[in-house]
Amino acid sequence: MHVQAVVAAALVVVTATAGCARLRPSAVVDRLKTGPPPLCMDHAVVVTGAWSGRVAVVFQRVYAVAKADLGSLRVEVVGVRATVADEHREEGFAVCRTADRAAITVFESRVLDLLRRPDSEIVMARAFAHLLAHLAIHPRPPVGDEARARAEAEADETGVFFFERAGYDCNRWENSGEYRRNVRIACNLAKQGERLHPPRRAEPSR
Ligand SMILES: [Zn+2]
Repeated sequence: MHVQAVVAAALVVVTATAGCARLRPSAVVDRLKTGPPPLCMDHAVVVTGAWSGRVAVVFQRVYAVAKADLGSLRVEVVGVRATVADEHREEGFAVCRTADRAAITVFESRVLDLLRRPDSEIVMARAFAHLLAHLAIHPRPPVGDEARARAEAEADETGVFFFERAGYDCNRWENSGEYRRNVRIACNLAKQGERLHPPRRAEPSR
């Protein structure tokens, strides 16, 4: 009886349309499989929609490559919707991490905007590659402007490698008209199967 109630709640979320007030908190939906993903945000619920499959396909393609660098960390992509007006309005993609689990959260409104663009898959793959690189190489958030800037550059450099190895053309990492030397170098290396930063979680070969 209880299980049926949970399934019903999940279906409500799946079929919810924008503005529907009958959303259930993420805990109800996700306990079905694995327990709730960490979100690191208040006033947001997990949502799915017709777009979920398209997001999942792109995520899985990049995640399959990044996995080797992530050790035992399990990562999932989670669509979210703000439940308080204007809360999280500016946010698109973000990461929330616990010891053995992480969620890349994607705001539904951002995804819906994105999917109208012809390059939506590239933009999503780039975001996933960048965030998975952070998870692979930065166990905790950097402190200070300099460290933060370096971490961003590193996440791009490793992200470029994931992106290229997932079958995307890393020449498309930069926006048109952009020139980023570190990205070009990382891209040239990635096309030869090489990378700027060795994987930090990899075991020594002997
Ligand atoms: Zn970053």
